[in-house]
Amino acid sequence: MKGTFPKDKFKAIETPFYYYDTELLRQTLASVREECGKHENFVVHYAVKANANPKILGIVREAGLGADCVSGGEIEAAAKAGFTPAGIVFAGVGKSDKEIDLALDKSIFCFNVESVPELCVINELAEKKGKTANVALRINPNIGAHTHANITTGLAENKFGIAMEDMEEAIKYAQQLPHVKFIGLHFHIGSQILDMNDFVALCNRVNQIQDRLEQLHIKIEHINVGGGLGIDYQHPNRVPLPDFKSYFGTFAKHLKLRDGQKLHFELGRSITAQCGTLVTKVLYVKQGTAKKFAIVDAGMTDLIRPALYHAYHKIENISSDEQPEPYDVVGPICESSDVFAKQAELNKCHRGDLLAIRSAGAYGEIMASQYNCRRLPAAYTSDELA
Ligand SMILES: *Cc1c(COP(=O)(O)O)cnc(C)c1O
Repeated sequence: MKGTFPKDKFKAIETPFYYYDTELLRQTLASVREECGKHENFVVHYAVKANANPKILGIVREAGLGADCVSGGEIEAAAKAGFTPAGIVFAGVGKSDKEIDLALDKSIFCFNVESVPELCVINELAEKKGKTANVALRINPNIGAHTHANITTGLAENKFGIAMEDMEEAIKYAQQLPHVKFIGLHFHIGSQILDMNDFVALCNRVNQIQDRLEQLHIKIEHINVGGGLGIDYQHPNRVPLPDFKSYFGTFAKHLKLRDGQKLHFELGRSITAQCGTLVTKVLYVKQGTAKKFAIVDAGMTDLIRPALYHAYHKIENISSDEQPEPYDVVGPICESSDVFAKQAELNKCHRGDLLAIRSAGAYGEIMASQYNCRRLPAAYTSDELA
């Protein structure tokens, strides 16, 4: 089964470009709202780093989600797209003074703080402005996730968060700083997680931490469990929507929220990945010694995930209905890792055919670079091409 695309419209557009199916994005957001809405006190923020295209941000905001930002630039992008500051959380191991000042000026909801030195700086900068900043401490729960090593974040060896053994001291320290208000705990164990047991492990860890903090009479108003829900890269047509039901259901079942506590989520990939496609043109079909190459005009500069993570993206030849043949689909960049797929079964390719590289709506356009003095890829929505 192939995806459906406005192929005639595509013919008039210079390749490569991103194409966003806004209907699917809206359906995905509706599913998030429905499944999240079944549970009291669940709040969802969109992880802006997955895709900060203004059109995408606008649609996500319309759906009523908050924003999870990891830089000052993302806070500005979120504000510009109309996200209310009261729905913005700010994470990141290396927040600069300028970024902290910006977040203070905008009066965002909460800083997810990743170290004690950062706490001190936020306290100092807030004092200068006569403000008090809400802070949650990001705790490294030392939990592995069954995903690519480059995208696990919750192990003690990762750079993120405050170690569990330092947590109590860090909380007590935060509580006696006059210009920060300690409001909760933050976690994020990784990305593209499909095994719900990984999230169960996180819930168990949070429960354990809550029991301990209760004994110390430390009050926690907000718990933020980050993002990480995965999508089906193999079957974007058959499984266009992530399993939000199991995801939220897992937390509802296993995480013991205390009275009045809010549970926050920060979903990125699961919201935008499936709605995005990188459309590229076949420049040359080259017969190598042992295989055929489809050389396309998109490269790792437009979509770096295959080169960076050996990530799989389904590829479809949307111009041809001829018998499938195996091709290595490669870009024009002067790097051996500039390969989108090896031995992908594509309908027989010809110069000029359009290929759809699927599930590219998250960590695609936003990670594009100008290496080799290339232009950044353009982006169009299905609304615009309708
Ligand atoms: C990247 C990130 C997310 C989003 O992760 P996804 O896997 O895209 O859902 C959420 N929270 C934090 C802190 C992150 O760094």
